[in-house]
Parts: sequence; C-alpha cells; structure tokens
Amino acid sequence: MSVSIVVPIYNEVENVPLLYNQLVAVLPELNRPWEIVFVDDGSKDGTAAKLDELAAKDERVKVIRFRRNFGQTAAMHAGLQYASGEVIVTLDGDLQNEPADIPMMVRKLDEGYDLVHGWRKQRQDAFLNRKLPSKMANWLISRVTRFPIHDLGCTLKAIRRDIARELELYGEMHRFIPVLAHQRGARCVEVETRHHPRRFGQTKYGISRTLRVVLDLITVKYMLDYFASPMKLFGQIGFACGAIGALAALATVLMKFAGGVDMTGNPFMLLTILASIGSVQFFSLGLLGEVNARIYYASQPKQNFAIRELLNFEKQPLGKDETISIRGRRAA
Ligand code: UDP
Ligand code: MG
Repeated sequence: MSVSIVVPIYNEVENVPLLYNQLVAVLPELNRPWEIVFVDDGSKDGTAAKLDELAAKDERVKVIRFRRNFGQTAAMHAGLQYASGEVIVTLDGDLQNEPADIPMMVRKLDEGYDLVHGWRKQRQDAFLNRKLPSKMANWLISRVTRFPIHDLGCTLKAIRRDIARELELYGEMHRFIPVLAHQRGARCVEVETRHHPRRFGQTKYGISRTLRVVLDLITVKYMLDYFASPMKLFGQIGFACGAIGALAALATVLMKFAGGVDMTGNPFMLLTILASIGSVQFFSLGLLGEVNARIYYASQPKQNFAIRELLNFEKQPLGKDETISIRGRRAA
C-alpha cells in the first residue's frame, strides 16, 4: 500500500526544508512507496521557492500551489483529493508534529482501522489561549456529537484513501475530519502522538477561533443528524409551535367566556399569533431544506479552492479543470 504525506503549508519558509529532511529520514521505515504532497496555501515568504527546489531535486515531492491563501481546510481538502497513495497521512508543516510517529500510525491502519488520529497529550502550546480553549472545545464536541475524542485539533492523522476522498471539507471543517469520517462509517482510533513547540514562524490562529469552532460544531451537528432529512428537525419545532399556539388560543377563548378577560388585551392572544406564524415558518423551512438536500445530492461535487499550478504530478484527477498548469516531470 502506497503512502501519501499531505502537508498544508502557509508561510513556513524555515520549516519546509527541515520537515522534508525529517520525512525523508523516517519514511523508508514504511517499506512501501511514498510521496509528499505539499499544499502551498498562498505563501508569501519564500516558501514557494523552497518547495520548487525540493520538487526539482526529488520527484516524490509534489506541490499543489494555490492562487491565494484559502485556509488550512481548503489546503487539506486539495491534498486529500490529489494524493495518490492508498494511505494518506496528514501533518502540519511547522514541525510541531513528529514525523517519527508516522510508521506507528500506518501500522495501526494495517490492524484494520480506516482512520488513525493523533492525541497531543503533552501539547506544547500556550495554556491560556490555546490549550484551555482547545480542551473545552474538544469536551463540548465530544458531548454534542457523541464521538469520543480528546484532541480534534491534531493534524497528524492516517486515513485510507477511499474515506479521505469522501470527506467534504468547507469553512474550517478540517478539525472535524474524524467526526465526519466516523459518520461515513469509518473505523476510527485515537493514538497518543508527540508534539513540539513551534521553533520558526508564527501560528496562524488565536483565541478568536474558539467561537468559530462552536459555530462549526452547530453546522456539523446539523449535518450529522438532519442534513438528509431537515423536515425531521424543523417539522418537530413546527409542531411544537403549533401546539403552543393552539393552547394559547384555547386559553384566550376560555378566559374570554369564563373570566370575561378582553381578548385584545390578553397576552395569550399575542402568543397565539406568534406561535402560529412560527409554526408555518418552521414547516416551510423544513420543506426548503428537503428541496435543498435533493439538489445537493443530485448536483456535481464542487471545489472550495483554486490551484495555480501542480509540480511533479503526472496528471490531474479525472474530471478536474484542465486549465491548471502542470510543471516538473511532464514539462521537462
Ligand atoms: N496553514 C495553512 N493555511 C492557513 C493557515 C495554516 O496551510 O491559512 C498551515 C500551517 O502552515 C501549518 C498548519 O496549517 O502547517 C497548522 O497551522 P498552525 O501551526 O498555525 O496552527 P496551530 O498548530 O497553531 O494550531
Ligand atoms: Mg502549529
């Protein structure tokens, strides 16, 4: 089984050559063919030239170059789509993950798992604005999705290609890869991995991502439980609103005839109106959702990134836009 290493890279000029050296030292241990797919996510600090150098001297280095910075999720998505290995290993390009953990993770896949994800038990990042929010987010995600997990944020993962190709990553969904894969029926397992402090370059994230993770969680929860049948969610709320409206109407009428309470001045009257409108709205939302789900499943898959060029790739995946330039082996 061949292995592809997929690395999202954004402004990691010092890290790229070191990471390449570390990977080249470790990967022969796998005893199988391998390639490294660097996804250059619009770097502006000279990373591009470093990647060109590596690709020129080593054919096993593939480069996907985005036209601009599309974010780590899009970079990951592109890497997973273009990687040719039957097993795909993802890791950060900042030397925080330990490449020496890769053989252990690939062996774990051989045991019959579809996805092995890392747990940075000894995470080497700041406590207050990184580790603490991450712990809370992981706890919340684990509760809400009912997927047992310690560390969704660890990029170091090994995934079987068929599972990886099915993942639909939008927004910042790369953090939910194990949850999404699990939903597609993948057998997932968590293993402890090493973690190093960042030595060069800067982290691209801060405390502000906590809120975005929570928003993504709402989306993921909806996707997991209701995406295919939105009426189940909105219809239930519609029924609840309808019931509240009916009860409030009943109360208004009873109070009028039994207690002589003026209907126009009765707050229950307002509640009746509000709940009835709400009920109609939710049923309509459910119907719209159902229509959307049908359009979604019938339509062509779309990409959430734009590639400027590809280095050392033989050809593009089937059906992809042929306008992307391919440099390297073929052009030479
Ligand atoms: N990254 C990327 N595009 C972005 C932001 C980050 O490709 O827009 C890459 C980055 O170069 C690194 C990985 O994603 O290889 C993780 O980023 P970072 O180390 O900043 O995240 P942290 O480890 O601090 O969570
Ligand atoms: Mg990092």
